[in-house]
Amino acid sequence: MILEYPEYFERFRCIGGACPDTCCAGWEVDVDPDSAEYYKSVTGEFGERLRKHICEDEGECYFPLTEKRRCPFLNDKNLCDIYSNIGEESLCQTCTEYPRYFMDIGNYEQMDMSLSCMELGRIFYTETDKITYIRSENDVEGEVLSPEEQGTLIEVLALRNQCISVMQDSTDSFPQKMDTVRALVSEAQGEDPSLKDSTRAFLKEDFNDLSLLLSSMDSISPEWTEKLDFYRKLAGSPEELSKMETFAADNADHLDLWMSKTAVYFIFRYFIDTCIDGDIEHELCLLHRSLTLIQFMLFAEWLIKGSVDVSDMIYVSHLFSKQVEHDDGNVAKIKNLC
Ligand code: SF4
Repeated sequence: MILEYPEYFERFRCIGGACPDTCCAGWEVDVDPDSAEYYKSVTGEFGERLRKHICEDEGECYFPLTEKRRCPFLNDKNLCDIYSNIGEESLCQTCTEYPRYFMDIGNYEQMDMSLSCMELGRIFYTETDKITYIRSENDVEGEVLSPEEQGTLIEVLALRNQCISVMQDSTDSFPQKMDTVRALVSEAQGEDPSLKDSTRAFLKEDFNDLSLLLSSMDSISPEWTEKLDFYRKLAGSPEELSKMETFAADNADHLDLWMSKTAVYFIFRYFIDTCIDGDIEHELCLLHRSLTLIQFMLFAEWLIKGSVDVSDMIYVSHLFSKQVEHDDGNVAKIKNLC
């Protein structure tokens, strides 16, 4: 199988108790069958505690959250009691892999890390000038694709690489680069780029539409609920929105760099989904909406604080990613699949 992943994949190390956030709160932890089986066999007091918290629904095991919406094994120091009682090797697949994700189609596997992890965000925005991708091979055989499926995969990966190159190598402004990406997609669809944009409904959405879309998702935390409340008020205030031009002018250089880099993340992560969704318009919609919302969230921080720096960019990308990217239903909404 061919493996492809960004260079920072190898540099990342979880900082555990020193993390400004925790990845063990806000979402239920899915427990893979092997780990569930093992947890059921652990003896002693800790084994009892494991069994008390493991739940099963239609054959799928998970740890439900506590009232404070934390993993039941996350202690007061934000450290994991499973790790400290029965060792790192006993963590379930979800906890071992996070913030990594794996996506394979045929003989190709794509690996990346989620911006919901703020340590990854720090590496991504402050220690990575240009994202380079590493390819390697292993002996694992992937599922056999039909010639048509294989052809689609090759075309999608080529288009993805072309769009990443636009975002990283062009000296155009970020909005111009987004125009170029949409034009490249239109050409690949055999459409006239100058006409296709007029049919893309997502380009006509305003901040009210987008904040309503966010409101249709279950909130992952009280922090998100509070922020969303602010975003909704902001989206409905022409007076506040009129300050966006000043925000964009004051932060022009940083915004171009941060937004282009964030676009690379979304293009690499999601364009391959075209092989499953069947129409790259869904991935283009996700790209446009995600970047518009992240920039809007950064604008909101600027209004609150009077200025923004890279730590705010790390924060809003993390917040967006945590709320949207780890729930298939939310991703489907952003892609306009439902
Ligand atoms: S969010 Fe990232 S750095 Fe923080 S505990 Fe989780 S994996 Fe580690």
